[in-house]
Amino acid sequence: MILIFLGPPGSGKGTQAKRLQQDKGLMHISTGDLLRDAVKKGTELGKKAKEYMEKGELVPDELIIAMIEEVMPEEGGFILDGFPRTIPQAQALDRLLEKHNKNLCKVFLFDVPEEVVVDRLSGRLTCTNCGAVYHVRYNPPKTEGVCDVCGGRLVQREDDKEEVVRRRYKVYVEQTAPLIDFYGKRNKLYRLDATKEVQEVYRDILEVLKDGC
Ligand code: ADP
Ligand code: AMP
Repeated sequence: MILIFLGPPGSGKGTQAKRLQQDKGLMHISTGDLLRDAVKKGTELGKKAKEYMEKGELVPDELIIAMIEEVMPEEGGFILDGFPRTIPQAQALDRLLEKHNKNLCKVFLFDVPEEVVVDRLSGRLTCTNCGAVYHVRYNPPKTEGVCDVCGGRLVQREDDKEEVVRRRYKVYVEQTAPLIDFYGKRNKLYRLDATKEVQEVYRDILEVLKDGC
């Protein structure tokens, strides 16, 4: 089962993908997490990506596509979270799936307005060690500033500052939203009301997945 989670930053894609990974054993492929890891390790990719990420701009397609090619598993299902983000990335994904004889199952669109995005991201806390995600109000850790999973330190991501968040939302509308039509025309798109509570959104996802691919 190959799924795409499409939606603006802060719409809850990572939160739901982690749940689905735990429950269904699907691999969670987050291009944002992979890039942050590359930046942390100071790899060539990380050095090239850093500047774009800090500004809330998209990292060039060729770097992202090469990265996806490297991590896509031969066997088993996966969730693509934050990829594709442009039409050329979606076309590259088509070619890659065809080459590996794989089929795209469904695309979930996480629908939320800009103000919800700003509210969620300004309160998001991320673990510096394992990448687990919390929210100061909607999903607080048991101990302030400490990750429930690994005990790591929780911080606000640099690109979750309001100014950068607004830029990222604009980039989403301009460069990523055209994918709604791209997948809609193929009858692959399932729109979720992602303003609902975490548990309700998860239930809606499972409901759609009940029908298979
Ligand atoms: P994305 O992966 O789409 O950028 P995240 O899953 O990291 O989004 O969620 C962004 C923030 O919103 C996090 O702080 C998360 O805890 C919180 N969050 C996620 N889903 C919901 C929800 N349904 N209701 C309220 N807060 C949520
Ligand atoms: P995310 O964690 O998904 O919000 O991504 C954080 C940042 O990583 C984005 O603002 C982009 O700079 C970069 N990024 C993540 N995924 C992609 C992608 N598919 N294409 C281009 N840039 C990406």
